[in-house]
This record gives sequence, structure tokens and C-alpha cells, in this order.
Amino acid sequence: MSGGSSGAGVVVVGGGQAGFSVVSTLRNAGYEAPVTVLAEERHLPYQRPPLSKKLHTEPEDIRAGLVPESFYRERNIDLRLGDDATAIDTAARTVSTRTGARVPYDHLVLATGARNRPLPVPGAELDGVHALRSIPDALTIGRALAAARDVVVVGGGFIGLELAQVAVTHGARVTVVELADRLLSRAVSPQLQEHLRERHERGGVRILTSTAVRSIEGAGRVREVVTDQGVLPADLVVYGIGAAPRDELARDAGLAVDDGVVVDAHLRSVTDPRVSAVGDCARHPHPHAHGLVRLESVQNATDQGALVGRRIAGSPAPYESLPWFWSDQGAVKLQIAGLRASTDEVHMVPGDSPERLAAYAFRDDRLVAVETLNWPAEHLAARRLLERRVPVRTADLVGSTLGALARARRTSEVRT
Ligand SMILES: Cc1cc2nc3c(=O)[nH]c(=O)nc-3n(C[C@H](O)[C@H](O)[C@H](O)COP(=O)(O)OP(=O)(O)OC[C@H]3O[C@@H](n4cnc5c(N)ncnc54)[C@H](O)[C@@H]3O)c2cc1C
Repeated sequence: MSGGSSGAGVVVVGGGQAGFSVVSTLRNAGYEAPVTVLAEERHLPYQRPPLSKKLHTEPEDIRAGLVPESFYRERNIDLRLGDDATAIDTAARTVSTRTGARVPYDHLVLATGARNRPLPVPGAELDGVHALRSIPDALTIGRALAAARDVVVVGGGFIGLELAQVAVTHGARVTVVELADRLLSRAVSPQLQEHLRERHERGGVRILTSTAVRSIEGAGRVREVVTDQGVLPADLVVYGIGAAPRDELARDAGLAVDDGVVVDAHLRSVTDPRVSAVGDCARHPHPHAHGLVRLESVQNATDQGALVGRRIAGSPAPYESLPWFWSDQGAVKLQIAGLRASTDEVHMVPGDSPERLAAYAFRDDRLVAVETLNWPAEHLAARRLLERRVPVRTADLVGSTLGALARARRTSEVRT
């Protein structure tokens, strides 16, 4: 255990992917002091990715739980569902909760995630207009989708495109409305954006880019979406226009925030080293990034939670995990390894079947990120090479793939 301990142990605010990773790692690493999780949601900690990849109409359809309740009980983790943290007193080292408790800590970990950005147009409050983040949202959308004929998805990001595919598979007429001139405009390389668009259109989704939603109309319930390119009939509108970190608790406690809780390479608040932040709510340095980054992914939440858990249990290390991500959009599996910058040079390479594709991003002639469509083996090879920092140059990939390169290097390693 790190120094200055009073025996109060660890308090984690947020019972999501990152919070779970912190507490499970603490106990696996032999940490014996009290561990408390303050969790706003009433569900046991769960994963969010399954929520947008399938239609859910009944709670038992949703297979998103991480571990059963007994996991927490057997490890003496005090999981307080439905009791959110309302204030932090960093001087007294206590957290106040909605139910009036004041919980002391030696170490506080903020794992509060992010919230969906609201849709800033008239009519966004009508019935039938939804955003997706939680299990209750997934059920509301799933039940509405089961009966919907005309679905408008506002926002051509990962969640919007996943939901568009779910809706089209269930027989709805689906239009995606995106303000930018491309889908996934910042998240993937321009070369891949065009391929993704074609594939979605081929799959029956209508896509309107460079299009702004002006208002949503209806008498109590959504009837149509008014855009600057015309009016779209709609009996369900789902929007996914980005997320904002939940950093207000930290800000109110006087901790540095800047679109996320600002932390150092060990994920400690730059204001107070007894406070850490992990997952979607943390803005952190990363060896693969210029400046500080805030990442929204399962990998980041899991690895950051584990890193802080290990540090508190006595094994500190800087955060250097390779970022990776996936998104399942109907028949398209998109996977990303590494962090691409807009100035990187991108080379597209077709795979050995028409559905497979890879985009390799180079910075100063060194591979920094790889995006693949329907090519998990190439994604895994990319992860292995990038994690081990094996230098790969543009010339290495002429007429080759990372999978082939990794195999060749393994063979030569065995021979030498
Ligand atoms: C629909 C959807 C699909 C996704 N699909 C993918 C995917 O395919 N691949 C991928 O890599 N990532 C995906 N993500 C992103 C991924 O789920 C997140 O990056 C990850 O959940 C972040 O973990 P976290 O613990 O930081 O936040 P969360 O898992 O969101 O957990 C934060 C928790 O903190 C709670 N909380 C907030 N404030 C307080 C408070 N004051 N007191 C107590 N509790 C509080 C919240 O209620 C929430 O339960 C998806 C996200 C969504 C919403």
C-alpha cells in the first residue's frame, strides 16, 4: 500500500467499466484495506458495447453484466448501487453521497465516465427522441425500434452507425443525418470513411452528410425531422452526437479539469496525488499522443483502472497501453489499433477477400496506427507489433500485410 494510509482504504466513484477494473485489480493484487464503490446506476457494473449492437426489448436480453453480485461480496467490496457521490472534500479526504453518507478515503478514484451531449434543437424533448448510454436507454430504444418504420439517426459516429444497422436489420427505413461532410469524420481516416459509407448505403441505410437538423416536429410525439436539406418522416429519432466527460465533481472540489479530469502519467490528479481519474472522464498524457488525450473505449477504461489498482496496491507504472477500439456496424467489424493524427500518411491495402481492408497510418515513415474492416487477424498483428514498438516502415508493407510481416519476423527471430 502507498504511504500515508489511515486505513480508510479506497473509494471509487462510478461503477462502470473503469471502476470495476480498479476494484477487481485491487483485490487480485492483494490489497486488504476497505474498498467502496459509489455507483449512481442501480444495475451491477456492466459493459456498454452490447447496448448498441443488437435490439433489446427485455432486460434479460441484455447480456452486459461484468460479474455477479457474489464477486463483490466474496471480495469484501462495498458496492453501493444507486448512491452517487455529490461532493469531495480533498482536505478532509471524504466523499459525500446522495443518501447523506460521508465516506473517508486514503485514495479516491474518479471513474465517472461521460454523458451524451444533448441535441440542441427545438423538439428534442418530444416522445420518441432518444440517446443511448445505459441499460434503461437500450430498452426504451429497443422497444420503440421494434415498432418503428421510419428511423432517423442524428450523428454518423460509432454509436449512430451501429444503431442504424440494428434498425435496418429490423426492417425500418433508416436515414443517418450527419453535420460533417463525412461519417466518423475525426475517428477514422478519410480513406476508410468512404468505404464505410458505401457499405452502409449498400446495406440499405440512407446517409445525408453536410446536413444540419433544424428541428424535430410532432404533437407530443415525434412525426418528422426538419433538416436544411428537407423534411424526413420519423417515428423514432436516435441521436449520438458525442459525449462530454463527467468532471463536475472534480471541478467543484478544486481539482484541475479541462474537458476531463487532468491527470499525470500515473493517472493521479495533477492537483492532488491522492485522487486518480480513469476511463472516459480522464484527460491524460500518452506516449502515442501529442499533448493530453481523453479516450472513450473499453480498452482505455479497463487498462487505466488496472494500472491505478496496481499502483495503489504497491506496483506503480506510467500509463503506456496501446489504445485499441472496435465497432460492429452490421456486417462490418471496424477495429483500430494505435492513435492516428490527421497529419499522418495513410495507405489503404485490400485484404484477401473483398470485405477486408486495412488502412495503415505512418508518421515520419513509421507505422503508428492501423484501421481494419472485417480483418481481425490483421488487427491483432498490428496490436502485437505496435505494442512491442517494432518499427514498421512504408516499404515493409509493399505487397505485404502486418500478419505476413509478423510471421516473417517470428521466423527470422527463431532462426537467429
Ligand atoms: C452505447 C455504447 C456503445 C459503446 N460501444 C463501444 C465499443 O464497441 N467499443 C469500445 O471500445 N467502447 C465502446 N463504448 C465506450 C465504452 O463503453 C466506454 O468508453 C466505457 O464504458 C468507459 O468506462 P468508464 O468506466 O469510464 O465509464 P462508464 O462505463 O460510463 O461508467 C461510469 C459510471 O459512473 C457513474 N457515475 C457518474 N457520476 C457519478 C457520481 N457522481 N457518483 C456515482 N457514480 C457516478 C455513471 O452512472 C456510470 O455508471 C460504448 C459506449 C456506449 C455508450
